[in-house]
Amino acid sequence: MTARSPAYRREELVALYRELSCDHPCPLAETRTKLVFGAGNADAELMFVGEAPGAEEDRQGKPFVGRAGKLLDRLLEEIGLERDEVFIANVIKCRPPGNRDPLPEEIEECSPHLFRQIELIEPLVICTLGNFSTKLLSGERVGITKVHGRPQAREIAGRTVELYPLFHPAAALRTDSVLALLRADMARLPALLDKARGAGRVAEAPELAPGLPKHEPGPGWRPGGTAGREPAGGGDAGQAAPADDERSQLDLFG
Ligand code: URA
Repeated sequence: MTARSPAYRREELVALYRELSCDHPCPLAETRTKLVFGAGNADAELMFVGEAPGAEEDRQGKPFVGRAGKLLDRLLEEIGLERDEVFIANVIKCRPPGNRDPLPEEIEECSPHLFRQIELIEPLVICTLGNFSTKLLSGERVGITKVHGRPQAREIAGRTVELYPLFHPAAALRTDSVLALLRADMARLPALLDKARGAGRVAEAPELAPGLPKHEPGPGWRPGGTAGREPAGGGDAGQAAPADDERSQLDLFG
């Protein structure tokens, strides 16, 4: 197995899930029910990044399974994609009490794990859903109203990625005009993916070796979060999470 094969990257992603399941020193760990790691195809060309788990996500341990998630599923279906073809994650992995906005210190604590996920999945296109993920991954303060539907080539986690900001589905549920804009932006996604495929998975980062972090720090990145891990099957990673819960939460199809 080569260092960056899909199988290796998937194993590393599972190891990260296990690590966070048993040790996630997050200020929100006290109040959340389940960690919401993210789910989908571990080798997805397309990633979606939301803000934070809501009540249903917190209960199930999966991202976007409430009303906003159902809308996202429908919009994906409209452009011929299914949830298990993409990977869906959030800026933070624990639900803020009462669905309040994530605090800067919570984003600071949790976002390195998102950058690590991006590094391992190697998506071609990342759709940020709403302001929090858009600002984090673009490194700009410009809000979603100004940038939605405009692809931007960005260096994220050591690779060139097309960042494609979209309105958050929860905002689209509240306002019909936002839903129309989100739907129109989503409709341009297949062409954007085709274009990104044409460019290929280029801009390879240096070889990923277990225990050697090589993150290209995005905003919010600070060292230490996932450094020094063994791949799954090594060390004690395999003992961490109950297998059923892992299968149900992680939903890694790829
Ligand atoms: N909103 C988000 O930003 N993420 C989820 O997982 C669900 C709702």
